[in-house]
Order: sequence, then structure tokens, then C-alpha cells
Amino acid sequence: MNEVKKFFADAFRHLGNNRPVPEIEVRFYPYAGLHHTIRVRSGRVYVRLSDICKGAPPDVLRALAFVLVARLLGKRIPDVHKRVYQDYSVTSEVMRSSDLARRRRGRKLISSAQGEAYNLDRMFTKLNRRYFDGRLAKATLTWSQRRTRNILGHHDRVYDTITISKTLDSLDVPEWFVEFILYHEMLHIKHPARLINGRRYYHTSAFRQDERRFPHFSDAQKWLERVARQRKVPRARAA
Ligand SMILES: [Zn+2]
Repeated sequence: MNEVKKFFADAFRHLGNNRPVPEIEVRFYPYAGLHHTIRVRSGRVYVRLSDICKGAPPDVLRALAFVLVARLLGKRIPDVHKRVYQDYSVTSEVMRSSDLARRRRGRKLISSAQGEAYNLDRMFTKLNRRYFDGRLAKATLTWSQRRTRNILGHHDRVYDTITISKTLDSLDVPEWFVEFILYHEMLHIKHPARLINGRRYYHTSAFRQDERRFPHFSDAQKWLERVARQRKVPRARAA
């Protein structure tokens, strides 16, 4: 937490036009979503960060400090911080309902790898053998609680969990397409995000190259477009 406080002090130094850095208090708070507050009372700054961010990497927390301090001071958010935080918020807001449910019920209770149509554990084992020589560490696999619209899969490094949208747990969806979405998320385990100039890259060229090894790759692209059309969203994707 002291480290997080330091990020806020840094942000005040950078954005505060030589004003002295105020006393800062930072706390995590169980907001219902990825929501944060910053306010000043009697010259002291009180920050409450969504506890979803507890496990966030330092560069994300630093970016968030700049975002909030800029908001407080009515300053423009520096682009680099804005991007880092946005990238993070996209992935962590994704399938938030299942994250929240997981925390509400305790993680252990939700082991819903077995769906109505497909079993994610079995699929993982098969893909692991076929494309990773069986060497990929087993993640926790779960179907999302809700039918998420535009995000079909998500890998959460902090919880070592892959969540696949319930939308795909249907015999109307070909097995190879579900496999492709899971394969994409498994590649996130193999290829951790790379940090370049403060920006995280999740889909590196090595990642994309591996992704194309999937035999149904181009069919899968067509299905992604098709799913997007059905859902009336710009484009379905795997995060
Ligand atoms: Zn991805």
C-alpha cells in the first residue's frame, strides 16, 4: 500500500504545478465494480480504490494514480497512463459478473468447467497435449455466469483463471470454435503480456503466430464476425 501511496505522491508532483504534495490516504474498497473515488478534506487527500485492483501490476496502479489525480486537479490525463489503465480496465471489467459471483461465493465453489454442451477441462487437456506438448500449467476453467455479449473468452492472470462465455456452451456452436477461443486464452498463459514503454502488449507477434497454427483459424475469424452480427456489437473477440 505504501507503494501505491508513492504513485499518488508522484502524480501530484507531476500534475500539481509545484504545489506541495498533500497528505494522502489510500484504501481498497469493495465497490460493486471497477470504481474509484478521490476527494480532498481539510487538505488531506482520501483515495478509495476498487478492490478489484488489489492484484493489479504496479504500472497499472501507477497509471490509475495519474488518472485519478488528473481528474481531481482538472488536468488532462497523460496519454501513456490513460492507455495503460484503459487496457487494464477492459480486461478486468470483462466478465465482471462472474468475478463478482466468484468473490461473493468464494472461488472454490464455482467449478463450472462442465457446461451443458462442452467440458472445458477436457478441452484444455486435449489442446494442451496437441499444441503445447502437455506443458501448459493447468488453469482454473469456468463458463461465465452470464451470456456475455462481445467478449467470448478471458484469461485472468491474477486468479489463473480462464473464463469462457456461456454464449458458446451450446451444440449450435461448433466444437472447434469453442476450442479456438480456449486456445486463444491458453496462449495468454504461454505468452505473458510484454511491457514496452509503459504499455502492455497482450497479443505480441509471437502470440499471433501461434494463434495461426490453429487449423480452423480462418473459419474461426468468420465465426467471430458471425457472432458479432448476431449480438449486434461491433466485433466479438477474445480478450
Ligand atoms: Zn487475447
